[in-house]
Amino acid sequence: SKTPVTLLGLGAMGTALARTWLDAGHPLTVWNRTPARAEALAAEGARVAASAAAAVAANRLVIVCLLNDASVDEALAGADLNGKDVVNLITSTPAQARARAEWARERGARYLDGGIMAVPPMIGAPEAGGYVFYSGSQALFDQYREVLAVPAGTSYVGEDAGFAALHDVALLSAMSGMFAGITHAFALVREEDIDLSAFAQLLGDWLTAMAPAVHQEAVHLKTRDFTSDVVSNLAMQVAGNQTLLDTAEGQGISSELLLPYYALMSRTLEVGSPEEGTARMAELLGK
Ligand code: NDP
Repeated sequence: SKTPVTLLGLGAMGTALARTWLDAGHPLTVWNRTPARAEALAAEGARVAASAAAAVAANRLVIVCLLNDASVDEALAGADLNGKDVVNLITSTPAQARARAEWARERGARYLDGGIMAVPPMIGAPEAGGYVFYSGSQALFDQYREVLAVPAGTSYVGEDAGFAALHDVALLSAMSGMFAGITHAFALVREEDIDLSAFAQLLGDWLTAMAPAVHQEAVHLKTRDFTSDVVSNLAMQVAGNQTLLDTAEGQGISSELLLPYYALMSRTLEVGSPEEGTARMAELLGK
């Protein structure tokens, strides 16, 4: 028989998760603050609990997919967590995740934190490549590995409960920089006689071709040898970035998305050597 699951929170993500456990034959108890959101799932076989506390009482494994950290306090204020296995999938900071792990420990529960690297349509669709970072209790993760793998792939990143959030946010932060670059690129070309769909293809392929640069970054930061195998040295890149800024000006486009990176590159060139790559920039961001 399949492990019974309790799921708190039936927003876009919670509802997508719920369906995968139901489809896989796991007995599922759900709770949502606004009860109407549970109706469709009830028709599909989920048991609907009248309160968060009742949902927690129903099963040992309790998955939390509420909006944010504050909503966990609100929803679980009256729940008895003693002996429970809590898996918290909300997006949080590493500090919030560590505090939540301590909160669970004080209440007698084992705790696993999760960071979801997927949007709801990627849940239950393994070919889409979505997965969830997990950190915290390895015993909990190992025990429920198969249950957790039903909605999406799993990646356990350590006993520190904050590490799932840290990995999640690090990837999202890199994505933010990538989207900043994409925004600037489209701003440069959008008013020209350039087909934007064809341009999008070129841009996507270029970003993909550049992505493996992350590996050299890691080697340089680990060895603190910032010059090995560098093909685009920092001095060249600072000069090249001046061309990017001049082109933006020529096209009448604001450089606001480029300037912070350019400023950090220039500052790094002052303390490092011109033959280095860009890895030392990460050190300069540290306190
Ligand atoms: P939604 O906004 O769709 O749903 C939010 C859920 O939280 C609802 O069930 C809502 O209940 C509940 N909620 C909000 N505040 C409270 C509260 N104070 N007490 C009790 N319940 C509360 O969000 P998602 O489902 O999209 O996201 C859920 C989590 O998953 C978030 O942490 C999000 O960051 C994360 N996530 C989402 C992704 C996405 O693309 N959607 C991607 C990766 C992570 P009610 O129905 O009553 O309003």
